[in-house]
Amino acid sequence: MKRIVIVGGGYAGMGLAKALDRRFEVRMIEPRDRFVHNLAAIRALAEGPPLLRQLAVPYDRLLRRGTVLQARAAAVTEQGVTLADGRQLEADYVVVATGSRHNGPFKPQTENAADFLSAGAALHQRLLQARSVAIVGGGPVGVELAGEIAAAHPGKALHLVSATQQLCAGFNPRLGERLAAQLRARGIGLKLGVTAAGLSEGPAVLALSDGTLLEADLVFASTGAVPDAALLRALPGLPFDTRGRAQLDPWLRPQGMQRLFVAGDVGATGDPMTAIAVTRQVPWLAGLLKSLAGGASIERLRPYRPWPVQPLVVPLGPSAGSSVLPLGREGMVFGDRVTSLLKGRDLLLPRYRRQLGYPARDPVAAAAVPLPLENRS
Ligand SMILES: Cc1cc2nc3c(=O)[nH]c(=O)nc-3n(C[C@H](O)[C@H](O)[C@H](O)COP(=O)(O)OP(=O)(O)OC[C@H]3O[C@@H](n4cnc5c(N)ncnc54)[C@H](O)[C@@H]3O)c2cc1C
Repeated sequence: MKRIVIVGGGYAGMGLAKALDRRFEVRMIEPRDRFVHNLAAIRALAEGPPLLRQLAVPYDRLLRRGTVLQARAAAVTEQGVTLADGRQLEADYVVVATGSRHNGPFKPQTENAADFLSAGAALHQRLLQARSVAIVGGGPVGVELAGEIAAAHPGKALHLVSATQQLCAGFNPRLGERLAAQLRARGIGLKLGVTAAGLSEGPAVLALSDGTLLEADLVFASTGAVPDAALLRALPGLPFDTRGRAQLDPWLRPQGMQRLFVAGDVGATGDPMTAIAVTRQVPWLAGLLKSLAGGASIERLRPYRPWPVQPLVVPLGPSAGSSVLPLGREGMVFGDRVTSLLKGRDLLLPRYRRQLGYPARDPVAAAAVPLPLENRS
């Protein structure tokens, strides 16, 4: 049986490890003690516990045959991975899926999920007390955050500051127009084509590039994800795109590499940095690796093709929002009902909890009183 080491247990690494568990000797390397479903972290901040407590799920039931090693990779080659504690793991294939970091409070900053949950709970308390909130960043996270806060706390004065005129720039412009109309209808003040200086958590007075001042009790900076590409940057001569993602050949390998693959946010796959993109990359890469392990030659296998039109689903609370789906040449924009069905109503939490081998909803963690995290068993 071929050996594969997967570096990173986020959406890409975790999905790939699961898909290959029966056919490979899988070892997945992940420093965090739990998977954190950051797709639901925005509403969890707005609503607080008990949703927040559902997001951190142990890795212990992910694989039946393979192993999840709680460790950090320090170096990768085509032949294997060196861990930070010096251990060497040899492999027939290596996949780097180290993802990205985000400057908002929605991804864990440490390896201990309990830190993420307590920071989220503290921020939720600050949100409850704030009368005015400013969000800086008009990408999907900033827009969703504005919509979720408005849905959960309709009385707050909310402003969204976006450096681009179009919200969710880079996706179908009709999506951005529709989201802007939905946010305005909820009374959210939009400052489009404007940047903010002097960012702090607040209370703060932000100096905006249009010459105005914006006062807020609480400020969220949400200015985009940064690829976590340190391992790939250590490989000699590898080119990176302007976002800092490693450039890849048509089979998602860094230039000149035969047995090292890249998936998810850290690779310039042709997709944006989204979990929806990962749901296209993972089945393709799993199929490719199975064929290679069966003796196929890679030149005869279908290269990766990114989404022809980039999909995006932006809930603004459980029953509202807008989405663009890859239908037709430019994609089709949908409203509340489709967005709610695709993500808004359950935030895909049951899907990822089940993928990790846990029930769709944990009744203990969902209790509003402070109880221990879900136990390993
Ligand atoms: C608030 C928020 C909401 C989002 N909502 C959506 C959404 O609704 N829909 C959507 O499609 N996308 C959404 N995204 C984007 C989505 O989260 C990312 O595209 C997705 O996380 C990418 O998955 P990944 O596996 O590539 O990386 P990640 O999820 O970042 O996982 C990478 C993993 O690698 C690990 N790692 C890093 N370095 C090492 C190392 N040296 N050794 C071992 N492990 C390492 C990390 O600990 C991490 O667990 C959202 C992002 C944010 C921040």
